[in-house]
Amino acid sequence: MKNITQKLSDAEYEKNFEELISPFTNNAAVVEAIRCLYCYDSPCTKACPTHIDIPTFIKKISTGNILGSAKTIYESNWVALTCAKACPVDDLCEGACVLHEKGEKPIEIGRLQRFAVEDFLNRETKNLFDKKPTNGKSVGIIGSGPAGLSCGAELSLLGYDVQIYESDKIPGGLNTWGIAPYKTNRADSLKEVELVKSLGVTINTGVTVGESISFDDLLVKHDSIFIGIGLGESGILNISSENLSGVFDAIEFIREVKKENWSAVDIGKRVVVIGAGNTAIDAAAGAVHLGAEDVKIIYRRSRAEMPANDFEFELAKNNGVVFQFLTSPVKIYGDSCVEGIRCQKMELGKNDSKGRRRPIPVPNSEFDISCDMVVFALGQNFKAEFLQSIPDIKIVDDKVEVNPESFQTANPKVFAGGDCINGGKEVVNAAYDGKQAAYGIDKYLSNF
Ligand code: SF4
Repeated sequence: MKNITQKLSDAEYEKNFEELISPFTNNAAVVEAIRCLYCYDSPCTKACPTHIDIPTFIKKISTGNILGSAKTIYESNWVALTCAKACPVDDLCEGACVLHEKGEKPIEIGRLQRFAVEDFLNRETKNLFDKKPTNGKSVGIIGSGPAGLSCGAELSLLGYDVQIYESDKIPGGLNTWGIAPYKTNRADSLKEVELVKSLGVTINTGVTVGESISFDDLLVKHDSIFIGIGLGESGILNISSENLSGVFDAIEFIREVKKENWSAVDIGKRVVVIGAGNTAIDAAAGAVHLGAEDVKIIYRRSRAEMPANDFEFELAKNNGVVFQFLTSPVKIYGDSCVEGIRCQKMELGKNDSKGRRRPIPVPNSEFDISCDMVVFALGQNFKAEFLQSIPDIKIVDDKVEVNPESFQTANPKVFAGGDCINGGKEVVNAAYDGKQAAYGIDKYLSNF
């Protein structure tokens, strides 16, 4: 790529990628916990997709029972550290806190959860729960992201032999590779992986189902299978010159940033990110932190239709990212490297089938943006090709179809959860699915 930005010093990289939200000290955590009203109907718990008993874990912090607090959290969520740092709390638990109605700041639930969970993860001994005796049954799990880890942890406590198959050499999936490092870093994710392994779960890394081992072999080897795979790379637009040097996929770009070898990551001086979801924001913020001088996000609809939430939007703006709404890419141009992107102005027409106003090109409105790097962040593709050939698993609109309560697929021996059934939601949704699927699997296998 031409025009690579001057590399930053190590100290500048460290500063740019430092955590956005600092941890509580002991005293600050207790002071914050005491503010909680212990609401009888706990709207915060209802708003949490894993339904953590939030008032109880906060109450335990206020009385100094930090280990008990962590236990309450883990009863509902096995990737509680990642969720504490990466959940969109304004839209979930903290958004539902009754203190809003009193005109007060909501309880900082995410930070308190982080406080209790980090205290626990830093301890030598980690046996919070009793494990049932081995029942002689075995479950294979595909994918070691939040859904797979949650399912595996729960099944292991229920007495199952659990084998996770992970195609990457480093486990953790989305939690390890897909979340911007100023929210949560790889070390956090790997602590949660170690916790799940400490319960007796085996993680087989570098094993790709459909290549290293067939799905049919797994069906023979295990009494039940849980599919907890994530999504693949970003979609493409089929505009010309997507193969030029300087064109990147947002997921791959974030993965490179997550390796924390920042000076080795290719970065342009002027970067254009296409898309407006949280992945686009993470990629744009990553580009700023790596030293890009001019970072734009272009999106063909308006702010109102933008998938990224308010917190992410404000964060990006505060980082200097410029948003160009109602703008659609037409082509990327350059010889061998990106030199710019031709765009077209859009206006909004009638609603499409999903209820969003359809963007319509404005005639004769093309214009160019000079840049040396283009990042595609258009939503991720379903990547489980190996599932397409299994006749008794239904895939509808690129989602594996399951019973919403048991998480069982049309093949009774196979269960699924997380991004592969919902098309890509939050980590906390995958954590819930994995845990519920474990109960579904246990119910199914208990009948044999
Ligand atoms: Fe505490 Fe707010 Fe939850 Fe009430 S809604 S229990 S005040 S965190």
